[in-house]
Amino acid sequence: MLPVKQAESIILEWVQPLDRQQDVEKIDLLVASDRILAEPVTSNLDFPHWHNSAMDGYAVRYEDVKDASTEKPAILQIVEEIPAGYAPQITIQSGKTARIFTGAMMPPGADTVVIQEVTKREGSRVAIFAAPKAAGAFVRERGCFYKAGSTLLNAGIALGAPEIAVLAAAQCTCLRVYRRPQVVIFSTGNELVDLASPLEPGQIVDSNQYALATAVAKAGGKPVLLGIVKDEPEALKKAIARSVEIADMVISTGGVSVGDYDYVDEILASLGAKIHIRSVGIKPGKPLTFATFVSYPSNNRVLYFGLPGNPVSTLVTFWRFVQPALKKLSGLNQGWEPVFVQARSLQDLHSDGERESYLWGQLHLVDGQYEFHLASGSHSSGNLINLVQTNGLALVPVGKTLIPAGEKVQVLLVS
Ligand code: AMP
Ligand code: MG
Repeated sequence: MLPVKQAESIILEWVQPLDRQQDVEKIDLLVASDRILAEPVTSNLDFPHWHNSAMDGYAVRYEDVKDASTEKPAILQIVEEIPAGYAPQITIQSGKTARIFTGAMMPPGADTVVIQEVTKREGSRVAIFAAPKAAGAFVRERGCFYKAGSTLLNAGIALGAPEIAVLAAAQCTCLRVYRRPQVVIFSTGNELVDLASPLEPGQIVDSNQYALATAVAKAGGKPVLLGIVKDEPEALKKAIARSVEIADMVISTGGVSVGDYDYVDEILASLGAKIHIRSVGIKPGKPLTFATFVSYPSNNRVLYFGLPGNPVSTLVTFWRFVQPALKKLSGLNQGWEPVFVQARSLQDLHSDGERESYLWGQLHLVDGQYEFHLASGSHSSGNLINLVQTNGLALVPVGKTLIPAGEKVQVLLVS
């Protein structure tokens, strides 16, 4: 039984991120949400593209207005009006100004913008009643946000609204992103039936494939569902061999415990897998297999997770071990590690003290502090029902049997 931290580092060490050259696809910017950039992006545009005004007002020469005051306003002649999108035609000479609007190009000759609130216009003249703080006030210099040719976005970042907006502004319509890692999922168990089948006595519906398909997609993987596999060595062997051929990662549930029908480990070994982990000191989720294959003929490494079948154990072990591995595999250059926050527990948190325990519930931010609200009802690994709306798993470390209500607890963020 490996400690959780040790299991985590073994798993992450075996994860080889997708290849920046081979494991990429070209996609349109509009469908790039949540994808991971496979190459750095540069632009040949400066941002801003030209000196422009940050405010509505008047483009002036600083020299002309630096002594302006209410008592002694500077009077300038307006020679042009420059709305956004218009290219100025006239160079501003001493004693002249141009009416200018936010985002519009600065005219040649002008170096400063005076905001319209401190001016009064009369016909083609404007009186300026206050000196700007300095030359260059309210002017956004060409290239002050970004200089053409430098790196605009790094490889390995996930694309959200800000990144996609930047790419749009840089006129990048087509991007090279990592392909989504292919994650083959199947469930093992003679007791399992699919959603459409009437339930016979002793049977249960296979919910794990649905849970994992959702969790995998959320973590950036492409789930491929293989269905339910019987607890029969030949059937399992076939399923595992087939999975390894097509997957970057395989997740099976069930059959990794010590029962008479738990064959997964021995079949993995018979198929030439390297088994790194067979059980972890975590509750729920002790029987957890982690193995690697080298797939033939591609020579790619395939990660195999045999998760325990109890539905809560399946998700807890997914969140704790598989999700970070999947995110690292997907090409993310950072941010794939599990995130823990400190919270105040609202209830007593019990554990056996022997394994690192994860208790599910909800985190709420109250006055800037996290509070952890333990899910009510049974904390059995078979009780899927009260897992609903879980967004945090409270950690009770080995050696502790109780974290009393009101005390601080580390909580793993999950989604
Ligand atoms: P196992 O890890 O194979 O010993 O399974 C432990 C228990 O988890 C089983 O007795 C089932 O009650 C439950 N279980 C196993 N697989 C699934 C599944 N795919 N969906 C829902 N429950 C499952
Ligand atoms: Mg089973």
